[in-house]
Amino acid sequence: MQIQLLPSSFDAGGCANAAQRLTCFLIDDRVTVDAGSIGIALSADQRRNVRDVIVTHPHMDHIASLPIFVDDLFGELEQPIRIHATQQVIDLLKRDVFNDNVYPKFDELKNERGRVMEYVPFETGKEFKIAHLKITAIPVNHIVPTVGLLVSDGEVTVAFSSDTAETEEFWKVASQAPHLEALFIEASFPNSMRALAEASKHLTPVMLRDELRKLSHNGMDILAVHLKPAYRETVARELTELGIDNLSVMEVGRVYKW
Ligand SMILES: [Zn+2]
Ligand SMILES: [Zn+2]
Repeated sequence: MQIQLLPSSFDAGGCANAAQRLTCFLIDDRVTVDAGSIGIALSADQRRNVRDVIVTHPHMDHIASLPIFVDDLFGELEQPIRIHATQQVIDLLKRDVFNDNVYPKFDELKNERGRVMEYVPFETGKEFKIAHLKITAIPVNHIVPTVGLLVSDGEVTVAFSSDTAETEEFWKVASQAPHLEALFIEASFPNSMRALAEASKHLTPVMLRDELRKLSHNGMDILAVHLKPAYRETVARELTELGIDNLSVMEVGRVYKW
């Protein structure tokens, strides 16, 4: 399985840099987990291949350029872009984003070949398939309805926390997987901003450490993501100071393989 965290920030010369302002993981050049930078950071080949998008929750940093992605591809799509999410999240996307005010109700529109976007609801706690992947979604503890994900291609299994504060069920389900090759876990704020992390339902490095104690696996790669750009260096340093084996900050743009 290969996974890339798409770039979402660019320096004055237009080159992508390390800061992560948006969230969009690309799996096997085919399926994305969230869609923050999907409309701005895919290669031409990836744009042709990606037709399945999982939305963990409707926060802007996770969906920002999803409407642009559908818009760009509108005329050339031969199959709809499928938006996979819980019904709760789909209802929020319909109400707040694809509502004919912020952007068109693309699920009601067609090009010459057919529909351009469709919503595909999934239930939490029940495995479902997208492309070659088996996926289980588990509710996590964020300020809007949000799911973490376990994703398997039959050989390799990885877990995405999405945005969350302290949570329980996600770690229980992740611990039941036979093995985990990688965990993508959020670390938004530095330790000194724990009050804000708790209010906005995110993690600090110390909170991340406490969450990892709920997971029975060890030895997997632990990739910290969602570091707020304003505090990136401090959070990265505090993560290093935890002294946890195999924990690193996920590099934007790099293709990781397991
Ligand atoms: Zn969020
Ligand atoms: Zn977020």
